[in-house]
Amino acid sequence: MNNQQVDCDCDTVPQPLLSVDKALEILTSSIKVTNDTQLIALDDALGRVLATDICSDIAVPGFDNSAMDGYAIHLQEEQINTSGGFVFEITDRIAAGNMGNTLLPGCAARIFTGAPTPKGANTVMAQEECELIDDSTKIEIYRPIALNENIRPLGNDIQLGDMILPKGKQLKPQDIALAASVGVGELKVFKQIKVGIFFTGDELIEPGNTLKQGKIFNSNRYSLVAMLNKLGCEVINLGNIKDSFDATCDALKRLQSKCDLIITTGGVSVGEEDYVKPAVEKLGKLDLWRIKVKPGKPLAFGHIDNTAFIGLPGNPVSAMVTFFLFVQPFIKKMQGINSYQNQAMQVQCGFDWHRPRPRREFVRVRLNHSTVPISAELYSKQGSDVLSSMVWADGLIEVPEDSAFSQGKILNYYSLT
Ligand code: AMP
Ligand code: MG
Repeated sequence: MNNQQVDCDCDTVPQPLLSVDKALEILTSSIKVTNDTQLIALDDALGRVLATDICSDIAVPGFDNSAMDGYAIHLQEEQINTSGGFVFEITDRIAAGNMGNTLLPGCAARIFTGAPTPKGANTVMAQEECELIDDSTKIEIYRPIALNENIRPLGNDIQLGDMILPKGKQLKPQDIALAASVGVGELKVFKQIKVGIFFTGDELIEPGNTLKQGKIFNSNRYSLVAMLNKLGCEVINLGNIKDSFDATCDALKRLQSKCDLIITTGGVSVGEEDYVKPAVEKLGKLDLWRIKVKPGKPLAFGHIDNTAFIGLPGNPVSAMVTFFLFVQPFIKKMQGINSYQNQAMQVQCGFDWHRPRPRREFVRVRLNHSTVPISAELYSKQGSDVLSSMVWADGLIEVPEDSAFSQGKILNYYSLT
C-alpha cells in the first residue's frame, strides 16, 4: 500500500497523502486511555464506560420459581407423561415474594408468576389448563403432564460468579438493569473526558443574529457540540474565535490545561487566513494531513503537551463526516470503550457509480426498506457544503478508491442515527 505518496497538483507545500485506514491507525494508536475513575449511582450510568468487570455474587433467579400464573403440582411417578385426567387437591397459595409449604404428592398450590415453587413441586400448569372442580378445592387437568413445565430454575439467567458486564462496556439501559438484577447499586466508571472546542472563520455569525453580506451562520458549532454530547464528553466550548494568530494561540492555551482533546473546525488548509496550523505548531506539534477521502481531505493532528489536537475541515459536511470517521473512534478509545471502531453493515447500492475517483468517498444515502434486500439511495447533491444531505441521509456508503459499479453492488454502510 502506498500511503506516503506525494500529491503535487494542489498546495504549494506538498503534504503526504494518507489513506483513511492509515490515518485512523495513526490516530487510534497514539491514544492514552483515560485512567481516572469514579463511582456513580445506577441512575447516572447511561452511556458511561465501565472501569471494571462486574461479576455477580448471587445466582439469578435465586430460587426455582413459576413462569406462569397457575398451579404448582407434586406430580407422582405414575402420572408423568401419561394421558388421562388427573385431579389434584389445592393445599396452598403462593404469591410472588412469599414462600409456600412443602407440597405433598397429589397436591397442588395456587401459584403466581415469580413465586418460589414449593418443596415437592415438580411441575407448574398454567391456570388456563386447569379446571377448578369440587367447589374450587381441586383442579383437574386433561392432558399429559411433563416434569418441570413452566419452572424457571435457580441460576437460569445468571450463575453465581458469572462475569456479567466487561470493563470497557458503554452502558445501555439493559446493562444497568442487569447490574441492578444482581444487587450492584453503584458502578465504577471512567471519568468523562474533557474536550475543548472552538471555531475559526471571520465569516461566521452566531444564529439568532442578523446575517450580513458575505457572512454565514456557524453551523459546525452545533453539529460538533451535539456529537460530543452524544458521546458523553464534557465539552468546553469557546465558540467562534477571530481569524488571527494571537487569538488562536490564546484559545489553544486556555483549553490546553483543562482538556484531554482540543478540536477546531476550519483554518486547517494552507490558505493565508488559516491560523490554526501555525498556532498549534508554535505551542506544540502538528501534522497536517491530506487524507484520500471525500469529503474531508485536510485534517490536522497534533499535541500541545499531553493534550491531543484534531483540526477538522470547515465545510459543514466535511466537519461532520471527518468527526464520524476519525474523531468518534478516537474519543471512544480514549474514553476506555472496548469496541471503539465504527461498525459497517453490508448494504446493496440502489445507484450506479460510473466515475472512479482516487479518493475513498463516504456518500450520503438513505436506506429504502421497501426493497429486498434493503437498498441504499443516493442523495442528489453530494457537495461538502450541502448540510441538508446529512439531514436527508440516514447513513454513509463507503465507496472504495478507484471503483466503478452498477446498482446492486454490496458496500459498507455506516449508520448516522
Ligand atoms: P476553511 O476550512 O476554513 O477553509 O472553511 C471551508 C468552508 O467551510 C468555508 O466555506 C467556510 O465558510 C465554511 N465553514 C468554516 N467554518 C464553518 C462553520 N463553523 N460553520 C459553517 N461553515 C463553516
Ligand atoms: Mg476559514
